[in-house]
Amino acid sequence: MYYLGIDIGSTASKCVVVDESGNIAGKGLYASGAGTIGPRAAVDAALSDAGIAMDDVARSCATGYGRNLLDWADMTLSELSCHAKGAGALFPTAKTVIDIGGQDAKVLRIDEGGRLENFAMNDKCAAGTGRFLDVMAGVFQCRVSDLQEYDAKSTKVVSISSTCTVFAESEVISKLASGEQIADIVAGIHESVAERTAGLAKRVGIVGDVAMTGGVALNAGLRGRLSRKIGHPILVSNLSQLNGALGASLVARDAFFSGMGAEDVAETRREKPTMCKGCR
Ligand code: ADP
Repeated sequence: MYYLGIDIGSTASKCVVVDESGNIAGKGLYASGAGTIGPRAAVDAALSDAGIAMDDVARSCATGYGRNLLDWADMTLSELSCHAKGAGALFPTAKTVIDIGGQDAKVLRIDEGGRLENFAMNDKCAAGTGRFLDVMAGVFQCRVSDLQEYDAKSTKVVSISSTCTVFAESEVISKLASGEQIADIVAGIHESVAERTAGLAKRVGIVGDVAMTGGVALNAGLRGRLSRKIGHPILVSNLSQLNGALGASLVARDAFFSGMGAEDVAETRREKPTMCKGCR
């Protein structure tokens, strides 16, 4: 039998299927989040990748911003617990996990078993999240995945002083108008997100090894700047964005073997942030 985890984020739906030993059998990612066709597409992709049907799934667990919109998952669990669980499997030596997704940034301290010990979270404002980077990529009319290449070409850092997404967008537009190079502005944007994330990490206390998860972990430019700020190398995996879904699949597997029923812990229902209070 197989165990399915689905992470319904604000911007992407991720699904992982593990076998009875907890090894990944299939995975799917669809770049559409809660309230869209994304969750179904991610599940179909993961099942097809594993070469199985839904009938082969013994237990499923949903996590992420949109988890409560699913009516078929056997259980739901908070992103924090699922990210901790996934990181324990993906990065067995990690003690600190920095997760930056589309709508929030969180820093988790975990033990060897992938259990959550402590955390800090920025979930009130889009600043310092993938949303901030998505908006900036929109200004440059490039893909968010292109930002790291711009950063690699930078020759200086054009400082972006506004942390608020709305004000920072205007600031970036005016820097462009004054003739600054896109690469140098991107370096400034990454510095700003790295600074904010490092501050969050320091609140929890950074203990090595440090791993990074969430879609923003795929941005090598930001990762490098963050690594220098926190003074630790940052572990990353090509499964980093699937970490929450992996954790959910492992939670489903554990629950099945321990005979546990549906549970729902540390639920934190949140609205999708767009602007901080100060900008309204
Ligand atoms: P959520 O769970 O909230 O949907 P994810 O962890 O899936 O968030 O991360 C989504 C964010 O990751 C996007 O907002 C985007 O900024 C970033 N992202 C996604 N793919 C890439 C990529 N290839 N390179 C850099 N950043 C990426």
